[in-house]
Amino acid sequence: MSRLSARLFSHFYTPLALLLGGLAAARQPSLNEFFTSLFNVLPTVLLLVGGAFCIAYARIREACLLAVTYLSYFLLDTQVDHYRLTGTLLPEAALTFHLCCLLLPALYGLYALWHERTHLLQDGLARLAVLFAVAVPAFALARRFPEATLDWLAEIRWPFLQADWLPLIQLAYPVFVVALLGLFIQYLRRPRPVHAAKLVVLAGLLLMLPQVFSRPGALNVLSSVMMLALVVSIAQEAYQMAFRDELTGLPGRRALNERLQRLGRHYVIAMADVDRFKAFNDTYGHDVGDQVLRLVASRLRKIGGGGRAYRYGGEEFALVFPGRDLQHCLPYLEAVRGAIESYPLQLRDKTSRPKIAEQGRQHRGAGAAGTVSVTISIGAAERLATQRTPEEVIKTADQALYSAKGAGRNCVRAHGDNRRGAVRAEKQTTSA
Ligand code: GH3
Ligand code: MG
Ligand code: MG
Repeated sequence: MSRLSARLFSHFYTPLALLLGGLAAARQPSLNEFFTSLFNVLPTVLLLVGGAFCIAYARIREACLLAVTYLSYFLLDTQVDHYRLTGTLLPEAALTFHLCCLLLPALYGLYALWHERTHLLQDGLARLAVLFAVAVPAFALARRFPEATLDWLAEIRWPFLQADWLPLIQLAYPVFVVALLGLFIQYLRRPRPVHAAKLVVLAGLLLMLPQVFSRPGALNVLSSVMMLALVVSIAQEAYQMAFRDELTGLPGRRALNERLQRLGRHYVIAMADVDRFKAFNDTYGHDVGDQVLRLVASRLRKIGGGGRAYRYGGEEFALVFPGRDLQHCLPYLEAVRGAIESYPLQLRDKTSRPKIAEQGRQHRGAGAAGTVSVTISIGAAERLATQRTPEEVIKTADQALYSAKGAGRNCVRAHGDNRRGAVRAEKQTTSA
């Protein structure tokens, strides 16, 4: 599995683990007193904690998803509690249940797919207005004309879709399918932990609904874990925002600083810098420059030899090799430099191509129409016994990078106490 697909799949680990755990817990014939009490309060606690979290991070959309999930839990809980205590259903139980089956996926799908506006208060008010516009008439209708509404909801419209494994009202299924499809497309377009969680949570709600009356803990347990999955995904994104560089997807400066604190006594740090990038930006435009940074990052991410790439800032990257020496690292650095040099970059931005056609000829890196190539210079340093902090090692790596630039760029230069043979790996190239 490629690192990218592994990373994308990792978005699903937590919500799927929670869903599977929840389904397993919901299958228990009875929960002990501790867990019964826990799951009785957990949805409310998660609504409050998650809601506060969402507001702190200005995530109105996710706050609304928590709210609709909680609302359906709240409405159904009253019915389920009565059923559990007395063994009979309240008169409005069927109607409430069917309305939840229909409105929960509709509102959840709508909120999840509805892009957040920049004005948060307006966004929140608009979502609240939709909730009222949908839920109030539906429940008013159900109160005023209970039988007609129930008949309409429970009507068999598609006899061929009648099956034991489709226990909900028929109308609920197309709504779930449309919402799930929409969320799946949303995830494909923007693979983020929150989008993965929203998809799994909706699938979890679809699995939960048929069990709410038949299994004692199903409603409380599954509502809790699904709300937890949403809250965890928001926390996961907040963490990524702080530690991952958005443009390249590499861990960013903060992650590097964290890693530097945990390095042992032996390690190598290499600093890589894109050659003549300012001229590249001036020639092709900033957007193409960004594409190049992404492509360089995708190559650096694949560095072997136990190295890990970080975006240091701008067009500079840091490569950290814990527990390694220069002799070990140089071939890997040389390999990644060569891979970037020989990689023809396909420019995706069509609007920039005419500009490239005219100007690209003058640029050293311009190849076939729509393709260019870039090079990087690398300076590497091994920690010396006299160096006390990783920052000092970075400084020496920077000096080595400086000498790589002085040597004509597109090469690897090393610095450190193990210099014999260390510098030999560099590629002799013509000046960039
Ligand atoms: P050298 O070979 O000596 O490294 O030359 P250089 O032009 O690469 O060096 P310099 O530091 O002068 O230029 C760095 C440029 O990188 C300046 C800035 O426009 C560009 N840059 C920094 N961050 C970004 C970014 O996120 N996106 C894009 N497109 N450009 C960036
Ligand atoms: Mg540069
Ligand atoms: Mg630079």
